[in-house]
Amino acid sequence: MENYLQKVVEDKRSYIDKGTLPEYIPELQKARKDALGVSIVTIEGDTHHAGDYKYSFTIQSISKVISLMLALKDKGESYVFSRVGMEPTGDPFNSMVKLETVRPSKPFNPMINAGAIAVSSMIEGNSGEEKIKKLLDFFRKITHNPELEINEDVYLSEKRTGDRNRAMAYFMKDVGVITEDIEDSLDVYFRQCSIEVTTKDIAYIGAFLANNGVDIITGERVMEERFVKIAKTFMVTCGMYNGSGEFAINVGFPAKSGVGGGIMAAVPGKMGIGVVGPSLDEKGNSIAGLEILKDLSKNLDLSIF
Ligand code: GLN
Repeated sequence: MENYLQKVVEDKRSYIDKGTLPEYIPELQKARKDALGVSIVTIEGDTHHAGDYKYSFTIQSISKVISLMLALKDKGESYVFSRVGMEPTGDPFNSMVKLETVRPSKPFNPMINAGAIAVSSMIEGNSGEEKIKKLLDFFRKITHNPELEINEDVYLSEKRTGDRNRAMAYFMKDVGVITEDIEDSLDVYFRQCSIEVTTKDIAYIGAFLANNGVDIITGERVMEERFVKIAKTFMVTCGMYNGSGEFAINVGFPAKSGVGGGIMAAVPGKMGIGVVGPSLDEKGNSIAGLEILKDLSKNLDLSIF
């Protein structure tokens, strides 16, 4: 397996030059554009790595899958889905166009920025700090990495430049989708996006989802199966934003990307996969990471369809 993974990483390095680093979060410009790595964690607990699997990057939108499950646990399905929809948009992840033009006004799904900001505001806690602590503790548990931390520079960079997210959040408060304090809710969202991980960490998250919410090492049920199922379904329909349809055809398993260059995938009943490659395509997905997943899906026969 290691030899195969090593070969895939080397084969796909040529794609790195075809993409770019995101400009709208200045701190992400410091990423190593040439980094490329992959980790696999099977639900039996076997791990395989290749390339730059020790490279640290911020989790970004991959965190939206986890905040959704925590909000569902805290507030229940009917509360969450009365405020956030279940449909793909076909628009970029940070688009705000449908927020006002479609009535009643609610973000289309929890994987686009607007939906994810609303979802993070629903996590129970007396303050923003309490909510982010709860999120971080949960991430540490499911990654089996008690050392996970928030990258303060990335967080501050997002906070300083996140005017589009801020605009959408204030709009959602106006129409009643968000009831909490806006700056507090944005702070939770910016911080959750700034959690620093490696491919191994996100592969553990994928394995936890692939195992329906039961910890693959301790056997403990950490999340209700229903909420894990909802999360994985959103990963299929909206996980790669307006690239989700093509991804379903070419790769064919639940996955979630982030602008830090990571992609977290859950192959149901089999394994979690984490890839990193900070060079992104025009939709904000890791350009070489996608190619690695395509290869893995084909050669290991992983499509669920
Ligand atoms: N923090 C990023 C943002 O709000 C997350 C986007 C992403 O990873 N696609 O724009």
